[in-house]
Amino acid sequence: MQLVPRRTLQQRLSPSLDGVPFHREPRPGDDQQLALQWLGTAGFRLQFQGKHLWLDPHMSRHSLAELAFGRIAPVPARVLAQVDAADGVLVGHSHFDHAMDAPVLANHFGAQVYGAEDTLTYCRGLGVPEAQLHLLAGDDAVHTLGPFAIGARRSTHSPFALGRVPYPGHITKPFQVPARTSAWRVGQTLIPHVTLEPAPGRRVTVAHVGSAALIDAELRGLRADVVLACTIGRHATANFTHRLLDALSPKLVVPCHWDQFWRPIDAPVRQIPSNDLAGFLQEVAAHPSAPRVRVLPMLGWISLADAL
Ligand SMILES: [Zn+2]
Repeated sequence: MQLVPRRTLQQRLSPSLDGVPFHREPRPGDDQQLALQWLGTAGFRLQFQGKHLWLDPHMSRHSLAELAFGRIAPVPARVLAQVDAADGVLVGHSHFDHAMDAPVLANHFGAQVYGAEDTLTYCRGLGVPEAQLHLLAGDDAVHTLGPFAIGARRSTHSPFALGRVPYPGHITKPFQVPARTSAWRVGQTLIPHVTLEPAPGRRVTVAHVGSAALIDAELRGLRADVVLACTIGRHATANFTHRLLDALSPKLVVPCHWDQFWRPIDAPVRQIPSNDLAGFLQEVAAHPSAPRVRVLPMLGWISLADAL
């Protein structure tokens, strides 16, 4: 019998973040500036001109045991501890770790919700008024929210679970919480994008790729200055990083969905087993366009006006 060396096992369960160059920057002094905050998982806040748009916010963060065996529900106290203002919530697909907290922001702050029908159906079940629900059909129709022009392209979800998409199918009717994680079916996966104008005539587009997959043809004609890129599950999508950079030609890439989202938001950040953030950074560096990459620490900020 051979014992597995302890370090190797630990490495596999939580690949080291040693050597990852984290970008550390204080929150901008005022929320007029164009800035981005990472919230863990695939969650971000985009702020500009005093407006706050949240992308796949997931702050409820249940334990692995709760996710595997329990029934889960949004935890408003955990969410509201991180949210001081919310004008909109943009959701890329309706898995629990992307869509779960949208109704909290909608109900508490009156935030507008933008997502596929699956996400809107889930929000209806949690009492979000119809007037706050806006369908993203993936047809590039533009919704205006303050300085943000919001659209989406159709995408697909990484088949990372032994070649399959976890919880496939749609949310066809509202459901009550707490519910099993499987209640949050993947639904229509989107790549939402947000365009704003930080200076007259200067437009900046941010694309949110919340699952490591894409449909190249659906991204035709879309360019994104900033790509928020999911890294977990990318090995299940052939040539994901290269194709994504080919399709969107970003100047800046911010990786996401690499942290263990079943740990509390204030616990030390650990990488998801089997995720390979260092490998992703190498793939980006090897792309001919060699965009800048900024890895944000948990709840960390980056001023986009400076970064672009
Ligand atoms: Zn997902």
